[in-house]
Amino acid sequence: MLLRTWAALAVATGIVVQPALVRPQPVGAEEMPSAVARGEASPIPVGPIDTSHYVGRQLAHELARPLEFDAIVLPLITSSKVLAPRRVNEQQIALASYRDEHAQPKFLWKAYPWREQHEEFVARFQTAKHEADRYELYRWCEQQELYDCAEFLLRRGLFDYQYRDSSDNYRWYLNKWKENGGHQRRSPFTFTLPVRGQWKVMVDTDRHHQSKHWSVWAWDLVMPRGYDLHQGADVVQNYFTWRQPVYAVSDGVVVAAVDHFPDHQIGYNAPADQGNYVQIDCGGGVYAYYGHLRQRGVHVRKGDKVQQGQVLGLIGSSGDTGVPHLHFTLMDGDGFSIRGRYQMEVWTTAGWRAYDGMDLEEGWHFREVRE
Ligand SMILES: [Zn+2]
Repeated sequence: MLLRTWAALAVATGIVVQPALVRPQPVGAEEMPSAVARGEASPIPVGPIDTSHYVGRQLAHELARPLEFDAIVLPLITSSKVLAPRRVNEQQIALASYRDEHAQPKFLWKAYPWREQHEEFVARFQTAKHEADRYELYRWCEQQELYDCAEFLLRRGLFDYQYRDSSDNYRWYLNKWKENGGHQRRSPFTFTLPVRGQWKVMVDTDRHHQSKHWSVWAWDLVMPRGYDLHQGADVVQNYFTWRQPVYAVSDGVVVAAVDHFPDHQIGYNAPADQGNYVQIDCGGGVYAYYGHLRQRGVHVRKGDKVQQGQVLGLIGSSGDTGVPHLHFTLMDGDGFSIRGRYQMEVWTTAGWRAYDGMDLEEGWHFREVRE
């Protein structure tokens, strides 16, 4: 199949666009687009894409390439109110409407090859206004084996109910989402660590990260010395983690930076929504979230471009912290927590061992890669 070149499109329309192509499978080095795998001509540089920088990750994004098949396009939930699931084919440049002002595909969650049943899904989605209709549609998607459409509906339920006073419904959606493996999504890109030095992943003893879709793969990171988290009196200023810098795990763009909430002492927990944080758009649909930062301790502003390894701010004790720690997770464009991949060294029975592309785990002692 001939692939449209985006250079030609840019000339024809006068619009500067990124090379773009929709493909069916989640990205990853092992899952290159079929046309590329077959060695066929492509309008974009063929071969492994260098995803060590923002532009490369945008290029590698499954939704950042020209279409090579008819697809059902599932938007991010944050845009699904305006952009319903729909069919897009190679002839349509309508994908442009799924792009933001920088021509980045930020409104798209997934695109999959079009199937006959998608026709009915798209039609029923338009009319499913009530909870019962949505549930019925979800069941129907499962029967039809439209698993991505089913997951899309679960994501929408989770997103909606996080703002509504109905925790039973939220829990129902969360459990379904996990049953269906929606929480197993993972960053296709490997990043560096958000901290420097020797750190530990706290064990989530009360499983509080597991009860929210934005934190299922979040890690609470502390910097211990031996078995101690602090020296002297048990006040935040004596914690080794207090005022430790946090670092950009990749280059990217700051999409949120908040640091006006106060730090609090040990024994007092502020509400969860009163924590300072920074969120970085890492490119390719992946975001990094740094929570519990220090009051007036954030060094970047919304819209700033950052470099990998740049200091973003200092850890504090804002929000619902027990003790000073960094709450860190990677997220997708809807703020759903996804698994990470990092370059790091992990303490094992055989000493420090380099890991490349693994996620952190509870209880691990880790540090940045050293020579
Ligand atoms: Zn946390």
